[in-house]
Amino acid sequence: MKAPETGRILIVDDDPIVIRVLASALAHYSTLMFATSGSDALAMISQHDFDVILLDATLPDQSGYDVCKKISSQVEHDGVQVIFVTGRTEIDAETRALSYGAVDFIRKPVSVPVVQARVKTHLALKQRTDQLKLLSRIDGLTGINNRTEFESVLRREWATARRQKSILSLVFFDIDHFKKLNDSLGHQAGDDRLRSVAQLLSSSINRGNDLVARYGGEEFVILLPGAPLEWAQSMTETLISKLYKENLPHPDSPFGRITLSAGVAGSIPEDDNYETLIEQADQALYQAKLKGRNNVVRYVL
Ligand SMILES: [Mg+2]
Repeated sequence: MKAPETGRILIVDDDPIVIRVLASALAHYSTLMFATSGSDALAMISQHDFDVILLDATLPDQSGYDVCKKISSQVEHDGVQVIFVTGRTEIDAETRALSYGAVDFIRKPVSVPVVQARVKTHLALKQRTDQLKLLSRIDGLTGINNRTEFESVLRREWATARRQKSILSLVFFDIDHFKKLNDSLGHQAGDDRLRSVAQLLSSSINRGNDLVARYGGEEFVILLPGAPLEWAQSMTETLISKLYKENLPHPDSPFGRITLSAGVAGSIPEDDNYETLIEQADQALYQAKLKGRNNVVRYVL
């Protein structure tokens, strides 16, 4: 038996015959789910991610147009491709569907090859968009989150922490004497060390909302929502000594190996000025450099 093709599809229709026809036409996709009313469909959409939704325009509890409008307004599901399936023949049915955010329109009675072709096209578009979105958040060299993604998560976590009156901690890391490494061993070796450090940092965090990112150059950040400063500091100390023990050669460093300096800051947000947290962690990092590197300093007001 052939392996199913990747694609998460939801079929919404109150007619069991239509569901049966569509289901067998699309049986080769990995996820195929069904709903027979607008409210069931919306409940499923809030629990699962779909790539393509085949939506009947006439449902028992509400119109498909209303369902489509609600899907489009749910930001976290943006990108899902809604295809209307309808027996309506009014001249404006198609334009109406498109104006509510649908990407395509299939007439009943459905033709199996048409359904298969349209779904295939929209699935390919959705998967390409997903791929681009993912790439826009990832640092190409190290494969971890990039600065854009870090800043967007920081804004979100800052707002959450402010609402919940909880602490948000941030660690700023910088690889010691990195420019000397590039000068003496070349950029290839520099890139390898950046990847090793990124790997070490990202394999060391395990709480759900923590985030590791490359901030730029040889700078990395770890965002720790809900983590007290003391905890963030001791976690950072552990990371720094773990890297030290890995003993990645750096001939032009007084330590003879790759080391990290770090600054830790944390606060319960009281305004929307999240840049303050970055500035504080950065200042603490500067102190760690002054104090001889390969260490962590905690920001104090
Ligand atoms: Mg119907």
